[in-house]
This record gives sequence, structure tokens and C-alpha cells, in this order.
Amino acid sequence: MSMTSTNIRLIEVIDLRPFDWETGKREPIEDDKKSICDRCGKLHAKVYVVEKEGKRYDVGATCCNRMFGWFPTHEDLMNAEAVAKDKAVQAALQTYAQAVIDEVENTPVPALQYREARWTYFGYDYIFTIGPKENIGIRIESGSMTQKHPSEIVLTDADRVRFAHIWKRRIVHKCIMERYSHLPRTKQKKLEFGLLNLLEITVS
Ligand SMILES: [Zn+2]
Repeated sequence: MSMTSTNIRLIEVIDLRPFDWETGKREPIEDDKKSICDRCGKLHAKVYVVEKEGKRYDVGATCCNRMFGWFPTHEDLMNAEAVAKDKAVQAALQTYAQAVIDEVENTPVPALQYREARWTYFGYDYIFTIGPKENIGIRIESGSMTQKHPSEIVLTDADRVRFAHIWKRRIVHKCIMERYSHLPRTKQKKLEFGLLNLLEITVS
């Protein structure tokens, strides 16, 4: 049977070497954590996962070529490498900043209280904070020219979600300042950005 490239494809590239978030570098790996090549039986830290006619093969780069007489295109390889790098960075971040993730997940989002109405020339805005002296909360734009009674202003689920994100973002920021004060400023920013992304915290 002739072999064509259509029945072979690269599923993914796996790099088993642990990634250190702080240094941004791969670390050495012990032999017992490596993968056994399906062609030569040797141990590889970097594995090409290839599918041929529905069967999966874990091989090293050289063995991919030797076993199938086929090699992924440069583009497929670059994409697979980029995905592998992203996964490694995410996993490393998760390990590196587990304390922050725990704190965000274990700190309840406080309830909002009505604070005051503010005239903005475009209508009234209503300010809700977590307490009369706290400077964290949300502003609800009403567009209304008449000031409402506080009991008429109902927070929607979307408002609560918006506030939960603001609250979580503040926790992430506070934790980084407390626990990762040894990092340079740019690295702290990178950590903050990575964690907001990992925890799916969006603040518009
Ligand atoms: Zn091999």
C-alpha cells in the first residue's frame, strides 16, 4: 500500500521538560519522566504525536521521518510548538502562583450597597460600594434625568458579575504585591496578566 501524507497527521508536540515560570526556561528532566519512542524504544523529552490510519504513535523527531518517511510541514510544526509552549506556560503559571489562585477562589465576593447618586449631565449615575468608606464598587449609568429612590435601583446579574471581576482583579493585584514583591515590576505585570487570563477575569 502506498503511503500518502493525507493519512498521516501531526496531532501535537509534547515537550515533557518542566517549564519554570520565573526564569521562563525549560528544566532538565529525569529519565523516568520521558516518553518511550514507538520506533526506536529510546527515551525522548520531546515527542511528536502522530496519527496514521487511526493509530497513534509517540515518536522522536528523527524517528518520525524514519518511521513514516514523512515529516510535518513547517507551518504545522510551528503551530504545534506554539500550542505546546502555551500549555507549558499555563501549567507553570498554575504551579508558580497557586497561592494566588487559592486566595481568589476562597475569598467570597462581598455584597454591594447603595452609596449615592451622582449627576453627570447625561443623567444620574448610581454608586454602589462594599461599604460606606470602601473605595471599591461599581457605577451604574441610568441615563435618567430624574433621581431614583435607592430601592428602585436594581442590580442585575451582569452588574454583579462585573463587580466580581473587579473584586477578583483586586485580590490578584494585592496578592502579587504581597507575595511576589521580589520580582521586577515587568515580571509582576506579566504574572498579573497571566493570572487574569488563567482565571478568566475580565475588567472592561
Ligand atoms: Zn525514536
